[in-house]
Amino acid sequence: MSARVLVVDDILANRKLLQAKLSHEYFEVVTASNGREAIDAAITESPDIILLDVMMPEMDGFEACEILKTSQDTAHIPVVMVTALGDREHRLKGLTAGADDFLTKPVDDFALLSRIQALTKYKLVLDELRLREASGRRIGVIEGEDSRGPVEPARILVIDDNERQARRIGLTLKQEHRPILWTDLKSQGGSGSAAIDLIVLTLDAKTFDPLRLCAHFKSQKSTRDLPILIVADFEEEAKAMRALQLGASDVIMRPIDTEELSARVRTQVRKKRSLDAIRKRLDESMELAITDQLTGLFNRRHMMKQLGQYLKRANTGGPPVSVFIADIDHFKRVNDTYGHDVGDEVLQEFAARIKDNVRPGDIPCRQGGEEFVVIMPDTTGDLASAAAERLRRNIAGKSFSVDRDRRSLDVTVSVGVSTSDNQKCTIDELIKRADEALYEAKEAGRNQVKSHAA
Ligand code: GH3
Ligand code: MG
Ligand code: MG
Repeated sequence: MSARVLVVDDILANRKLLQAKLSHEYFEVVTASNGREAIDAAITESPDIILLDVMMPEMDGFEACEILKTSQDTAHIPVVMVTALGDREHRLKGLTAGADDFLTKPVDDFALLSRIQALTKYKLVLDELRLREASGRRIGVIEGEDSRGPVEPARILVIDDNERQARRIGLTLKQEHRPILWTDLKSQGGSGSAAIDLIVLTLDAKTFDPLRLCAHFKSQKSTRDLPILIVADFEEEAKAMRALQLGASDVIMRPIDTEELSARVRTQVRKKRSLDAIRKRLDESMELAITDQLTGLFNRRHMMKQLGQYLKRANTGGPPVSVFIADIDHFKRVNDTYGHDVGDEVLQEFAARIKDNVRPGDIPCRQGGEEFVVIMPDTTGDLASAAAERLRRNIAGKSFSVDRDRRSLDVTVSVGVSTSDNQKCTIDELIKRADEALYEAKEAGRNQVKSHAA
């Protein structure tokens, strides 16, 4: 996977070196020579990742990172701080400024490529979600949701068939999280991954193939979105790279620095949770977009879209589609007599009864006011009329219980039915015919079903 990398360093030789390494691996590279330029380039060049030198004149890396991570336009771009070797204090300061990861100078090739791989993959997912959300509501700063400090305890699955190694990792993780150790894969069977936040997977397993397992997790719907942190030995760099290509999120090298382990775990958990939150928000906003708020039935917009699709199918030789429009009789009187709130309650119970009375494939919608439309795919006019009659009988047969005093109220409904019956029936035509049938039902005294004679 290629990516666009912004390299920020005040020393030309350093920029040239990183540029050469990255170009060799087919990354696109843009450069900046100080913090100010970096912020401009982050906006104009929209890089997938930023490699940010710490020591720079004027504005140093920490300050630049802080600005990048708190600005709406750039907060989603991963930042890797490049620090002098062994500079622990700088690492901590970088974390506080919101950096996503670190590299130490002189930059090791494997470390460089694996970090870029891991972070660009995350950004790819994030970008896609952001794009989908952009059509609805704009998301604000995401990682601005505190990329510092501790995270809520996470459930972490440690998979390592070397028990001593597994226990040592477990011990470190226990300080903040709830680790679960898998040392014997066979006895675990396919036991669930429910509520797991992160998998820590060793590459030097003897009793199973960790790469295969990694691929397996990434191919299953239930585990696909789980981040995997790979534990590798230095001679396993190629294998670790392969794991990243298969979808692992990050790599930590042995011997494990416990502080680094904690930091990487924290980052992965935080990222997973922020992706989960965006996914959830997306699901909710998508549901919101097709649902009528008062009744929970589909709204008119969704109704038109669905009807268009089923009609298209019917008009090109597919099965017929029928609709009925159900309009509550003298609903205005309910409002006038008992008030608008009671009217709303009636609409809600009416909607619930429609839902209970249609088949699973039918699509119950609130067209507006006290008018409901049910789309019935693969349904002939006769069957649709029978379904409408079933609903009418249900409504008239059992009074509605509304209001705080559970007042009982008699409600009836008139229904008009129509069916796609030729090769060029349009939505408007189908609805208009159902409307005409409904009008007939009202004229004939209400509380009845009429269908449009084709
Ligand atoms: P008909 O038997 O001819 O259908 O008479 P009707 O009174 O049901 O029909 P009309 O179209 O005259 O009145 C519909 C009423 O529905 C008027 C409007 O105030 C009320 N209404 C529309 N939407 C809502 C709603 O969301 N909540 C409540 N409570 N009332 C609504
Ligand atoms: Mg009415
Ligand atoms: Mg009406």
